[in-house]
Amino acid sequence: MPELPETQIIAAQLNKNLTGKIISQVQVSRDYKALPSTEIFIKAVTGKEIRSVRRVAKNILVELDNGTYMLFHLAMTGRLLLWNDKIGSEKWVKVILHFDNGVKLTFSDMRMFGKAAVLSPKQVGELEARYGPEPLDKNTTPQQLFDNLRAKRTNIKNALLNQEVISGIGNIYATDALFLAKINPLTKTNEITSENATRLLDAIRSVLEEGIKLGGSTLGDKMYVDPSGKEGTYQEHFKIYSKEKCPVCGGKVSFIKISGRGTYFCPDCQPLISK
Ligand SMILES: [Zn+2]
Repeated sequence: MPELPETQIIAAQLNKNLTGKIISQVQVSRDYKALPSTEIFIKAVTGKEIRSVRRVAKNILVELDNGTYMLFHLAMTGRLLLWNDKIGSEKWVKVILHFDNGVKLTFSDMRMFGKAAVLSPKQVGELEARYGPEPLDKNTTPQQLFDNLRAKRTNIKNALLNQEVISGIGNIYATDALFLAKINPLTKTNEITSENATRLLDAIRSVLEEGIKLGGSTLGDKMYVDPSGKEGTYQEHFKIYSKEKCPVCGGKVSFIKISGRGTYFCPDCQPLISK
């Protein structure tokens, strides 16, 4: 599932390639429902010029020249690809945007948990208000993370995946950040100290920045590629995710499921400290 780094890379590439381009035609697959309805979606975006493309949490927001927005959420199996002329052998294509310069953007989604929607500026404001602070925003403070974590009654791993606590983090980067911060994923949020939160925010920033630099993570299913079709390489630099041996102490890595999500940690480097 694309997390902050992958979504950021997609948004940046689309912004670079599509800003100033006009959507000349829109096609939506019959088995797919754009939101609020396919008819409204097509009508709202056809003929519009793209003003900018940016990321909010794990959403891609495309601002159109009439002030409305197109939103894509990739969920588990969504993918956005740019094509210079013909559309290649991409499967499960649900939406095709044709641009005035011949470029096409496809949105495909095998399991259809993703989203293609049009939103008003008001709805975009409401969407942004639902998310916690952006970890890479320099104005985000350890204190904010600490307060948001303490407000949840759960373990730290679950809390990090909660998009109200902090934006854009999913299973892989949460697992790696907890390892770098030497925090056990089962630590209760009410046992997190402000010193933990400071270390954790540093670790989150470090793994997210590395993820962006390395083009995101592409797992064995090859589901994530950037809009040009390129795979990421962060998977070759996982800190603890998917590992059997701890890269720091050489000990055996523990694998557990927390709320159904595979979680890796080193019991020696990330001991569970309980008050
Ligand atoms: Zn270790």
